[in-house]
Amino acid sequence: MSGVGKGTSTAALGLTLKAKGYAVTAIKIDPYVNVDAGTMNPVEHGEVFVTIDGDETDQDIGTYERYLGVDITKINYMTTGRVYQSVIERERNLEYGGRCVEVVPHVPEEVIRRIEAAAKSAKADITLIEVGGTVGEYQNILFLEAGRMMQVAHGKNVKFALVSYLPVPPSVGEMKTKPTQYAVRTLNSAGILPDFVIGRSEQAMDKPRKEKIAQFCQVPPEHIISAPDVSSIYDIPDMFEEQEFAKKVLKSFGLRAKKNDLSAWKAFVRARKNGHKEVRIGVIGKYFSTGNFTLSDAYISVLEAIKHAGAAAGVMPKIEWLNSEEFEKDPKKLKELDKLSAVIIPGGFGSRGIEGKIATINYVRKNKIPYLGLCYGMQCAVIEFARTELGWKKANTTEINPKSDHPVIDLMAGQRDNVKGKKYGGTLRLGSYKCKLADGSISRKAYAEAVISERHRHRYEFNNDYRAELEKAGLVIAGTSPDNRLVEIVEVKDHPFFVGVQFHPEFQSRPLAPHPLFVGLLHAAKKRK
Ligand code: GLN
Repeated sequence: MSGVGKGTSTAALGLTLKAKGYAVTAIKIDPYVNVDAGTMNPVEHGEVFVTIDGDETDQDIGTYERYLGVDITKINYMTTGRVYQSVIERERNLEYGGRCVEVVPHVPEEVIRRIEAAAKSAKADITLIEVGGTVGEYQNILFLEAGRMMQVAHGKNVKFALVSYLPVPPSVGEMKTKPTQYAVRTLNSAGILPDFVIGRSEQAMDKPRKEKIAQFCQVPPEHIISAPDVSSIYDIPDMFEEQEFAKKVLKSFGLRAKKNDLSAWKAFVRARKNGHKEVRIGVIGKYFSTGNFTLSDAYISVLEAIKHAGAAAGVMPKIEWLNSEEFEKDPKKLKELDKLSAVIIPGGFGSRGIEGKIATINYVRKNKIPYLGLCYGMQCAVIEFARTELGWKKANTTEINPKSDHPVIDLMAGQRDNVKGKKYGGTLRLGSYKCKLADGSISRKAYAEAVISERHRHRYEFNNDYRAELEKAGLVIAGTSPDNRLVEIVEVKDHPFFVGVQFHPEFQSRPLAPHPLFVGLLHAAKKRK
């Protein structure tokens, strides 16, 4: 089921295989009909992760990038919508040579074609393919069929692992294997025998449980990997290593470890635990709540970037999720920000909660609380500055008020056509763009580089009509596109750390390469404490 840990299991297995000297890549398959994740509400689907080549993907691609330490591109992500789109396009181009195009085998064949292309482009020895959804549901059956067909074609070069959940009902107090037995049986009916079972549970799996699964599911007991909850997802590779998971996977392919080097990863895990000084980082957003539950999945890359930077800055970040709408209802609540060591406002869309974000920015700017604004968080910083410092009370983004008398954030000509023509899917400014940093700025110091490259996902831009006046009033333009046409970073003077970036630095932060802006923010947070 979703959320059980397929993505992290895939990524952690990938890392441990890579440590053994193999080139590894990972593919995510999402069973929904959306062509990409870009059109989905993050509360429903979690964060939309953006690749360097501008694909709007599932957050699992981000998890792979963080563990494998590589950039993953479009070809490694597919959805039902995307696969069908290719098949239909191919049919329209007469590429099926006049044959009747059928769901089976043509759709699974397209899936296989994409898997092979991704493996080839990454020059991978081993390609991990994560199929989203739940075994037995209607949606992912064609992907399982693709897997089965691949095994028919390639025999022992294709292996299957089932990530299954083993509940421990409190009223019984015993771990139950029955759901896993049925999941395996359902998988069998799709023609697939799992080679490995990864047993996710609150607790470690004991011998009797393993024996039961081995007996009823035809999986060798040593191929049943226990994956209990751990305090940090970064401990999972070590947990897999203790059970020699990667070694067993290699062996099942007739391969052996060429080396085993996890030292850099282990040093990161240690550094995280050694950061003793606690800093409190407020993340002000709105995509948290579903019914009675609070989810942080919509901001997963931001959360991970904070963790990476914490290890680098030698602090223990404690994250406070704050809903910006609360500050709208009760502005007195802004005082609560005083307790924080730093504030982040991540990306967002639409009007809900935006005034609370603007009020927050005003508060942290005046009270010199370290601030990092990501995308919408940068746009809101420009709006706040214009309203407060230039007295343009109605300054806004045209996303919220198309009739604003000071549209300091606005659509560029090309985007205007997209919005008019309702062409929303895949038309934001997406993917990596270069940015030139201004000498003497906070950002220039943090990056220690003059030109950087960062990933974007937005439709609106800083409006150059107001650039001169805003600069004159003290707003620092700390980064622009190399041709100077697009403002990418704003800062303010006389502040310990106040940076708003039009891009999403969180997508490039990795455990072994923490992002300079997040590290800069956490250093400032440490000082404030
Ligand atoms: N809504 C803003 C835009 O479209 C910002 C997007 C974001 O924060 N990712 O430009």
